[in-house]
Amino acid sequence: MSERKSILNKKRIVIKVGSSTLTHPNGSLNLSRIEKLAGVITYLHNQGKEVVLVSSGAIAAGVGKIGLDKKPADKIKKQALAAIGQAELIKIYEKFFEEYNKTVAQLLLTRDGIENASRRRNARNTFKELLSMKVIPIVNENDTVSTDEIEFGDNDILSAMVSSLINADLLIILSDIDGVYTSDPNIDKNARLISDLSKEDGDISKFIFDSESAFGSGGMASKLTAGKHCVENGIDMVIANGANPSIIYTVLEGKEVGTYFKGSE
Ligand code: GLU
Repeated sequence: MSERKSILNKKRIVIKVGSSTLTHPNGSLNLSRIEKLAGVITYLHNQGKEVVLVSSGAIAAGVGKIGLDKKPADKIKKQALAAIGQAELIKIYEKFFEEYNKTVAQLLLTRDGIENASRRRNARNTFKELLSMKVIPIVNENDTVSTDEIEFGDNDILSAMVSSLINADLLIILSDIDGVYTSDPNIDKNARLISDLSKEDGDISKFIFDSESAFGSGGMASKLTAGKHCVENGIDMVIANGANPSIIYTVLEGKEVGTYFKGSE
């Protein structure tokens, strides 16, 4: 608990939810989980926290919308489905947040856009304005012009870049795994969940392993890259299991859940 004491005072929080957290095993959107997530974010917002949501799920929503039975492997088809599904996804968020009297905004970003100085400035100004208007920004990759996160990352890296762009205090990555393990828990029964990565010896990349499980398109590798980016930019990050969005409360209480990347002093 003491290691994570600083989490109690975090004000500007980025929450990233991946496709695997937002969908049922058959690929359709898990609406009850999205509704719960909207409830948790609303609660934090009412407490005076500034929350930015980075959400995947556009392709999944597109798959459901046109009645496919699974996500296609073809990249261009995925881009088209993301274009169809993004409208649906935002409609769903709007509906749930509206029930709580909250306004959301849609921001479609790319990694290279955030790296470009003038676009970076534009994006930062937009975030700043939205947060001052007490609006909840909902970010996804602009899959029409960029496929970085479709191919590798499922928005893990984008969410870390957004966190540094807006000087967030904390990034919470919700996934379908409890956190970073010492080895693949699906194969190795001795695998241990790492609670605090700063206490482990050596290079964190040694915890990257291949797994068959649906960790999202970047698996653990993109989450560790996101963690490295956050730590280098002085931002704390926690990876936790998003099966129940209430875990966000547990993270914010500074409890030992998931894996903590210590970025702040
Ligand atoms: N931007 C994509 C989406 O919203 C990312 C999904 C993925 O990589 O699976 O669907």
